[in-house]
Amino acid sequence: MIIIDGSEGEGGGQVLRTALALSIVTGQPFRIEKIRAGRQRPGLMRQHVTAIEAACAIGGAECGELAVGAAELHFTPGKIAPGEHEFAVGTAGSATLVLQTVLPALLLADRPSRLVLSGGTHNPSAPPFEFLERVFLPLLRRMGADVEARLERPGFYPAGGGCMAVEVRPGAAQLDGLELLDRGLLRRTEARVLIAALPGEIAARELATVSEVLGWPEEARRIDQLPERVGPGNVLLLEAAFDQVTEVVAGFGRIGVSAERVAEQAAKRMRGFLESKAAVGPYLADQLLLPLALAGGGSFTTVKPSLHCRTAAAVIERFLGVGIAFSERDDGCHLVAVRSG
Ligand code: ATP
Repeated sequence: MIIIDGSEGEGGGQVLRTALALSIVTGQPFRIEKIRAGRQRPGLMRQHVTAIEAACAIGGAECGELAVGAAELHFTPGKIAPGEHEFAVGTAGSATLVLQTVLPALLLADRPSRLVLSGGTHNPSAPPFEFLERVFLPLLRRMGADVEARLERPGFYPAGGGCMAVEVRPGAAQLDGLELLDRGLLRRTEARVLIAALPGEIAARELATVSEVLGWPEEARRIDQLPERVGPGNVLLLEAAFDQVTEVVAGFGRIGVSAERVAEQAAKRMRGFLESKAAVGPYLADQLLLPLALAGGGSFTTVKPSLHCRTAAAVIERFLGVGIAFSERDDGCHLVAVRSG
């Protein structure tokens, strides 16, 4: 039995999701204590309960009664059940993070699956749908996975109500490794604002700020005015497509923070990434470790690895026979290497 201290490292929800994902793939039971002890409101939140429910349904698993606020979980996986599944995060909790939990098992299952996930699709502190679609899934496809996601309806924090559909057609029993050391040339940039039930001038001010910070051309800007009923919502998505990889940086509009501030923070993060030589941005780094470990190996260059990334690495090493090494290179990039055995 693997025992995980949920307060270690980053001490957040990703420790739990990584353990769930690997438990259903490997068939190893685990117990986690002090769940999200590093957070202001520790224990399970609604979003995490849905991720566990999804892991139980897809992993044929048992875990006893679940309650928001619980600090401990005992999880025993069973037989993976691909097929049609629907999961709803009852609040605006992130639907993309629920997907993160169950996708690895479905990629390696013996038949196709179709998931319908509802909840938040554009949440602060979670991958927005476009990150999944343009950054993460294309790399999984390069590793041999046949997976596609479609946004049916956006769901913003705090209202939620979004929905996405994901199709997975498993092929090989194992994913291919990936070497992502050099991102190649920058081919395309786009600054896009999603806005619903809020004044349109917010979007214009965000794009003006992006131009000031990044100097991206006029034709690389776009405003998507969404129906009132999906709002209120405002997300700025900055996309940079390189030969080998795409990066999406998101800025989430929030009450009390000016449009300029939201856009400036996002644009500066994108500028930092563009100025580096790294292939992989800080969020993709922690999300890519698990597929690479399941593939048995791979490596990538990234910016300074976050505590999230190192914490995910430690959980992955507990479940799989892999070693994950971090080293800094002379050009300021960091190399992350996942090796089996
Ligand atoms: P908590 O931090 O409250 O425990 P949580 O369950 O939401 O919450 P975290 O442990 O913070 O989880 O993990 C968040 C995940 O979302 C990480 O995998 C991180 O890479 C990803 N993520 C966060 N923000 C972004 C973003 N802007 N773009 C892409 N991915 C993101």
